[in-house]
Amino acid sequence: MDDTPTDSDAGMDADGKTDTGTDPDPDEFTAENADADDAAPARVDPADAFAALGNSIRVDILRAFLEHQQAAATPVVQFSTLRRAVGLRDSGQFRYHLEQLRGAFVEKCDGGYRLTYAGSAVLTAIVAGTYTDTDALGPTPVDSACTFCGAAVSATYRDGILTVSCENEHPLFVWALPPNAAAGASIEDLIELATTLAFQSYELVVNGTCSECYSSISPEFESADDSSGDDTAGQSVRFTAACDACGAAWSVPVGFALLTHPEIERLYHRQDRPLRTQYWWELDPVTSAVELEFESSGTDPNRVRLSVDIGDTTVRATLDETGSVAELEFTTD
Ligand SMILES: [Zn+2]
Ligand SMILES: [Zn+2]
Repeated sequence: MDDTPTDSDAGMDADGKTDTGTDPDPDEFTAENADADDAAPARVDPADAFAALGNSIRVDILRAFLEHQQAAATPVVQFSTLRRAVGLRDSGQFRYHLEQLRGAFVEKCDGGYRLTYAGSAVLTAIVAGTYTDTDALGPTPVDSACTFCGAAVSATYRDGILTVSCENEHPLFVWALPPNAAAGASIEDLIELATTLAFQSYELVVNGTCSECYSSISPEFESADDSSGDDTAGQSVRFTAACDACGAAWSVPVGFALLTHPEIERLYHRQDRPLRTQYWWELDPVTSAVELEFESSGTDPNRVRLSVDIGDTTVRATLDETGSVAELEFTTD
């Protein structure tokens, strides 16, 4: 522990509240002696919630929940167990810090305390290193050629973001990964992991769900404005979505939808080139001169028909307005 709590540190909370020191009972505070009407607030301002974490004792308390969950079969932890795990002798001080976590991250329940959903999520992020670590990898050459300009490709991992791009800075694949994923991993490992996550994410997004925070979102097709002459599916029409709640954003070539479809996965498998062993940004549905037909006029089509050759098979697909594959037809020469 790098800071010792004193009465004065309480005044530094961003919410401006100070510890009045009027706890009726500075001794152990458990569900048994808790006031029945001492309910947690229903809604917590996110800034106040994160301010509550600006203290190493409170982060230690969250970690104590994790240690307990690993050792015991129940998520409920007693006050005394938590205090011992954190190693703070003064139970009044310990109670003060625990109370700062209540509402947003910790809730009182029968038999003690448990993490809320937000508490579990923030603990997972702390364990994954999201808020602290700064591992970096690359730039590392990747055995691929830019699908826009043909230049050499490299990948870097910095500040939690994996970026695959060419010498001319065309972005081919950008994905956020927590630092834990990078511990002991190679760039190739990270590309593989990010690809798996991107496929999973797409499946949620086409169903109208943000894969990061599970809010409802409305994906759509967008025609690219820049007419660079590369009239391929990947570069002229993209599938995009943005989450108002958490700020996550997606933008993929429209042909990406095909890569997530099990029939297409089987087709690649039959052709002895399993999808997951290849760089998705190089694959036919996102690179080749896909024929596109829009079912509605204008620049933002709400249904897209595309046709693409995958090996010796011509695939015709219709995507509905959510980006889901509505119809799929194979023709083999
Ligand atoms: Zn390029
Ligand atoms: Zn979201």
